[in-house]
Amino acid sequence: MSHHEIHRTHRAGWLRAAVLGANDGIVSTASLIIGVAAANSSHEGVLLAGAAGLVAGAMSMAAGEYVSVSSQSDIEKADIAVEKRSLEQNPEFETEELAKIYETRGLASNLAKQVATKLMEHDALGAHVRDESAFRKPAAPSLCKRRFFQRPLLR
Ligand SMILES: [Zn+2]
Repeated sequence: MSHHEIHRTHRAGWLRAAVLGANDGIVSTASLIIGVAAANSSHEGVLLAGAAGLVAGAMSMAAGEYVSVSSQSDIEKADIAVEKRSLEQNPEFETEELAKIYETRGLASNLAKQVATKLMEHDALGAHVRDESAFRKPAAPSLCKRRFFQRPLLR
């Protein structure tokens, strides 16, 4: 019998960005339209101001998103380089470090060492990036991040 679970956590990033963006867009565009209308502008003037506000807001959001995702990606790349160097220069320490992480997650000491040793043989960098580095769970997942601006760094 096959078993398939549907998880929704992966949607949290774009949903959060979409809600934030929509809320921001509605508030700022409405404020702009009210302001222009209050200044006794023509119908066309109010419509033009609304449309210009929407376009400017969308462009600003896209640029902000791109810059923030790029800087996160730069930090991740730098972190991976640090980890790579440490794995080359200090494999025993790194194995021990990985074992400690698994111990704190509930594995018995000898089993944690076994798991760490096996993972170091299989994919040392992947194991460390996934289990050790702070970016294993991005703090601020954002819209379109993976799809448009960033390829998965490790997989
Ligand atoms: Zn490490």
